[in-house]
Amino acid sequence: RKWVYLFHEGNAKMRDLLGGKGAGVAEMTNAGLPVPPGFTITTEACNAYYDANKQFPDGTWEQVLAALKIVEEQTGKGFGKKENPLLVSVRSGAKFSMPGMMDTVLNLGINDETVLGLVELTGNERFAYDAYRRFIQMFSKIVLDTDPRDFENVLDQYKERANVKSDAEIPASDLKKIVAEFKQIAERQSGEPFPTDVYQQLHKAIEAVFSSWNNKRAIDYRNFNKIPHSLGTAVNVQTMAFGNMGNDSGTGVAFTRNPSTGEKELYGEYLLNAQGEDVVAGIRTPSKISRLKEDLPHVFEQFQEIAKRLEQHYHDMQDLEFTVEKGRLYMLQTRSAKRNAQAAVKVAVDMVEEGVINEEEAVKRVDPTQVYQLLLPRFDEEEKKRAKGEGHLLAKGLNASPGAAYGKAIFDATRAEELGKAGTPVVLVRPETSPDDVHGMLVAKGILTARGGATSHAAVVARGLGLPCVAGCEEIRVNEEEHLFRVVGSDIVIHEGDDISIDGATGEVFAGIIKTVDADYDKEVDLKKLLGWADKYRKLGVWANADYPRDARRAITFGAEGIGLCRTEHMFMEQERLPIVQKMILAKSKEERQAALDQLLPFQRSDFKGIFEAMVNPESGEGYPVVIRLIDPPLHEFLPSYEDLLVEVTRLETQGGHEEELNEKRAMLDAVGAMREMNPMLGLRGCRLGLLFPEINVMQTRAILEAASELAKEGKKLQPKIMIPLVGHVNELKEVRRQLEGVAKEIAGESGAIEYKFGTMIELPRAALTADQIAEVSDFFSFGTNDLTQTTFGFSRDDAEGKFLLKYVDGLEEPGLKDKVKVLPINPFQTLDREGVGQLVRMGVEKGRKTNPDIELGICGEHGGDPDSIEFCHIVGLNYVSCSPFRVPVARLAAAQAAL
Ligand code: ADP
Ligand code: MG
Ligand code: MG
Repeated sequence: RKWVYLFHEGNAKMRDLLGGKGAGVAEMTNAGLPVPPGFTITTEACNAYYDANKQFPDGTWEQVLAALKIVEEQTGKGFGKKENPLLVSVRSGAKFSMPGMMDTVLNLGINDETVLGLVELTGNERFAYDAYRRFIQMFSKIVLDTDPRDFENVLDQYKERANVKSDAEIPASDLKKIVAEFKQIAERQSGEPFPTDVYQQLHKAIEAVFSSWNNKRAIDYRNFNKIPHSLGTAVNVQTMAFGNMGNDSGTGVAFTRNPSTGEKELYGEYLLNAQGEDVVAGIRTPSKISRLKEDLPHVFEQFQEIAKRLEQHYHDMQDLEFTVEKGRLYMLQTRSAKRNAQAAVKVAVDMVEEGVINEEEAVKRVDPTQVYQLLLPRFDEEEKKRAKGEGHLLAKGLNASPGAAYGKAIFDATRAEELGKAGTPVVLVRPETSPDDVHGMLVAKGILTARGGATSHAAVVARGLGLPCVAGCEEIRVNEEEHLFRVVGSDIVIHEGDDISIDGATGEVFAGIIKTVDADYDKEVDLKKLLGWADKYRKLGVWANADYPRDARRAITFGAEGIGLCRTEHMFMEQERLPIVQKMILAKSKEERQAALDQLLPFQRSDFKGIFEAMVNPESGEGYPVVIRLIDPPLHEFLPSYEDLLVEVTRLETQGGHEEELNEKRAMLDAVGAMREMNPMLGLRGCRLGLLFPEINVMQTRAILEAASELAKEGKKLQPKIMIPLVGHVNELKEVRRQLEGVAKEIAGESGAIEYKFGTMIELPRAALTADQIAEVSDFFSFGTNDLTQTTFGFSRDDAEGKFLLKYVDGLEEPGLKDKVKVLPINPFQTLDREGVGQLVRMGVEKGRKTNPDIELGICGEHGGDPDSIEFCHIVGLNYVSCSPFRVPVARLAAAQAAL
């Protein structure tokens, strides 16, 4: 088995085997770019290593040694040789980039012998011993698993004694002593002498990188990003290029375009005379990449050229890592760049206009959920002005990831996780973040760091998560021990739990809460263009769930082509109507009920008129389809709760007096008591209500059709669709429909014929199973996948998530088992369960079309806005999906992707 590939043996297509990094350096090597020579140990070797109880699979080590020989030939250097020693990095690299989650060891191959060779070769003692001490430090942390703080303390002591500020100023004579002390620390902590044999170093480092695949933060990251745990990581062994050989050397990272705006400009940072992680570690503040033009003009020019070539080559924006050794540029990594929503859309659209990709590719490239972020809230400008006026602006940092957030300032990730999971909005404040903070970042509303640049860990992770982030805010001093931060130059202190607000688009940090507002869709020119292209490819219609004219108008703005669900019960809840609704519910006779309904009719008629008007094209007068669902919830939802009433009545009784009020409340208590159900979601609701109290449905139907006919007189053509919920047996629908057709005829007689349709929701398993019968009396179906999921799983939606469902998805802790036991792969209320609920949907579609080929089929559960579920809707051949207005752009894009 081939476990090891030299860089020139690989290519970009081999990501499964070589990991993203390995495939990237291979591709660059073959494209003739300056890449330090090396080789990649495959992900298969990693998996085989785990399968064999952490033993290298047969032949691996031999192949490593053989590849190393070739690298020695390519470079003219010798591994472990005193003369011209070869030093290498041992770098992790999985199929999907997991920035900073796994480990990399630099300067490997150094020991007391080879360091002398390095001095001889470079004539630079300081450099050689600095490389040595870095190696011990990194190797100890990653391979020997020792506490890094002991090393930092030693460095700090030497800096203090030499009276210098940065590591780069420690003199060579001190570095030699530091190396000796480091070795002792490593030995003391690990209980073994520090390995001097370079082959042993290499063997251990490769094992450590394999092991880092299963460190906690890597596992957390994969769980969150839904990356399978079975992929394994590759290991790249690569000749070192030294960025720390003086001021004609350096190291940096750069994006070929701006990852937060999409602007076409090199965007990144570098440090002169520095190595590896120095740029992202936030220890020294790096310079902008554009300054490289002044510092090392030749290098800048070459780098710019390479960046352009790589973009053209990959047809995508790239994220690059490079090192300059004595004026020579080396490329260390290229990968498709992570970008936030705004950049994703702009880059996709720009690249079409530049002729780099076509429209179809652009549509495929943007993650639909990212589009949602573009419509993310921002601070209300007035509120923000007020906050500034009142002196709440505390500081300004780097605008590292856009969006606005407020929450309680929390200074450690674990505490943030606790509060965040309990539903408290949290802004995580850290001096700088590291991969150990990710669990807290995942639940925070925003991130604030005092150090680090636009490519620091905090910034990169926040952009990936779509979280607002202000990074490198040097005007605050974070005190981790005391859980607070001070604002420089003032006596302001923000303690743990104080409210703060951050604006990731401007970098501003405020004390207190600033309210947020919605984004301005009209200004999203690129997004509109992209969605326009998406519309050309999609087969599914995209409708919206809207209960109010305001929602309907917004949905239209976002591109909805109809309303797939208008819930009428919200209209009953409004203040002035609720007493009438209650009178109707508590009525003792048909007459009393009718009187209340007569009062409700004009309200409902104007509600529907409002919605309809919002859905009419003002020029053509043509209306979009509007599906209105007749009353669905159990009636007790419109009455005060039994418990509250009981408390009220008891209070009035003990107080005495208030006879009249007491009687009223008692009557209400009796009535509510009589209506109590053990299991209201499976009780008297939906079409069952209509069968027992037809008058309510009759009033609603009348209101709908009268509203439509009034508008018809103004030349506005509407397509009302009346939807009867919770049908389980065809007879239920038959009877309700019979009653309502009567009303429709009456109205047609009074004010002329109007077009209308009757249909039902498929939201009970029995309805799906007998969809052929139901379709014979139904003009349309709308799959109510919320209830259908609830009733198929037998999960109460109101209880399940909090009580057990999220644990099912997250995994149950099992004593004795290392891994959590995942019971469900997804939350079926978020993403349609294709295997179970999906089968019922498919059956409903097939059976429905069999007896009624013209039947119109849609979905109106939460799933209508979920990209994975939308794909399923496309596959089973629904006519449209209906989702909340803000999800409409997401659905347009997801529907196009499903069709491509
Ligand atoms: P990560 O996946 O965390 O980015 P890398 O393997 O890319 O880890 O290594 C981190 C950094 O170490 C790189 O960005 C680069 O600066 C430095 N590095 C790695 N290999 C080399 C090398 N062969 N020569 C010089 N620097 C290197
Ligand atoms: Mg890297
Ligand atoms: Mg329902």
